[in-house]
Amino acid sequence: EISVDALQAWLRAFAGAVAENRDQLTKLDQAIGDGDHGTNMDRGMSAVVAALDDAPPADAAALFKQVGTTLVSKVGGASGPLYGTFFLRLAGAGGAGPWDAETFARALRAGLDGVVARGKAEAGDKTMLDALIPACDALDAALAAGQPLGEALTAAADAARDGRDATVPMLARKGRASYLGERSIGHQDPGATSTSLLVETAAAELG
Ligand code: ADP
Ligand code: MG
Ligand code: MG
Repeated sequence: EISVDALQAWLRAFAGAVAENRDQLTKLDQAIGDGDHGTNMDRGMSAVVAALDDAPPADAAALFKQVGTTLVSKVGGASGPLYGTFFLRLAGAGGAGPWDAETFARALRAGLDGVVARGKAEAGDKTMLDALIPACDALDAALAAGQPLGEALTAAADAARDGRDATVPMLARKGRASYLGERSIGHQDPGATSTSLLVETAAAELG
């Protein structure tokens, strides 16, 4: 079983990782976007932590709902609605009851589907999905093979990192980076980079 405290620790760890990597995320977005991904995500996740400190949610659904609504209201651009939708879908799919490994995997998949529904991107478009899709696939495969959650999340984090790295040679087909056409090639996608941090911190906190 995954406690609400552990899920909260994950979000706090993600906020910490975003703050630590803010300048890198911004630099990546300067190369193929408008240079605000680091500040966007840091502003959003700082507000998430402040909201958690203010009113600790009672269950997992309330927790992720609070995170999603905070990100939608505090972060503009593409990433606010996309990450916001991701967490709102997590809340809806996982529900209020106790979460186990299967609940988490199912919620993550629902979050991924929400990002696809919202942004209409697919694998290979050079977006956050290129880290999220392989992470979900690796998590499902590892759990289906009977691995414990910790090992399964480590496999998911490895897959997210590989997916992030694989965005470098891609041509961007969605978001601001797509305006660059061929010039988007050769740069790592900022959103795939922040999503890789999300999965890495899940492995560290939920395993
Ligand atoms: P903005 O582009 O509005 O300035 P950010 O810089 O915060 O927003 O976020 C950019 C990231 O959002 C990109 O690196 C990409 O990963 C992600 N992204 C952009 N458009 C989409 C989309 N349609 N679907 C999924 N992810 C997207
Ligand atoms: Mg940007
Ligand atoms: Mg912007």
